[in-house]
Amino acid sequence: MASNARLDHRNPLVFDTHELGRRPGALQRLTRTIDAPADLGIQGVIGVPAGAPVELELRLESVMEGVLVTGTARAQAEGECVRCLEPVGQELEADFQELFSYPDADDRGRVIAEPGDDAEDDEDRFFIEDGLFDLEPLLRDAVVLALPMQPVCQEDCPGLCSECGARLADDPDHHHDAVDIRWAALQGLAGSLEDGEKDEMSGADAEAGVDEKQEK
Ligand SMILES: [Zn+2]
Ligand SMILES: [Zn+2]
Repeated sequence: MASNARLDHRNPLVFDTHELGRRPGALQRLTRTIDAPADLGIQGVIGVPAGAPVELELRLESVMEGVLVTGTARAQAEGECVRCLEPVGQELEADFQELFSYPDADDRGRVIAEPGDDAEDDEDRFFIEDGLFDLEPLLRDAVVLALPMQPVCQEDCPGLCSECGARLADDPDHHHDAVDIRWAALQGLAGSLEDGEKDEMSGADAEAGVDEKQEK
C-alpha cells in the first residue's frame, strides 16, 4: 500500500498539517499553484498538459479522526473533439472533498495493521503520515470526473464526412452525389465477391441497377 512510501514535503502536491494542528474545529485556507503532473486527465482523450499551471484552493479542517480537505483545482485542459479531431480547449474546475485520517484514529472500529480483511476498503481511504498528506490521488480522481469522456468542439459538431474525411462544420453544404456513393459501393462489392457468391446474392439484379444509374 501507499503507506510504505514516505511522503516528501518538497513534493508540491504534499501538504503539511502541522500548522493546522489537531484541535478539532481548526481551519486553514491555502492556495498553491503547481505544475501539472504527467497524465493528469483522461489518457488519450483530454487532460491538463504536463507542467501546465494548476491552481489549487484548499480548505483544511481539523476533525476528530483527521483532516477534512475540501478544495477546487483550476486549469486549462486540452484534448481533441471525438467527432472531428479538432483540438478542444476547456477551462477545468474540479471540486474535491476527502477525509485524511490519522493512522491512530483507526482504533475505534477497525484494525489498521491487518492487511487482507479490509484491503479493498483501505485502498479508498486516505491517511495523514507524519503530519503530511498527498493530494495527488484525490486531484487525479477529481480531474477525471470533471472532464468530459467524449469532448466535442461544439455541442452539434457534425464530425467528419464518412466518404472523404472533410470536417463538416467547416463546410455545411458538403455532400457527395448519392449516385456516386452507390456506384462506388457496388463496385467495391463486386470486386470483393467471388463469382459463385455473386450469383447467390442475385448479382444480376444488382448489375441491372448499376446499368440504370450509369445511364443517368
Ligand atoms: Zn468537432
Ligand atoms: Zn466528403
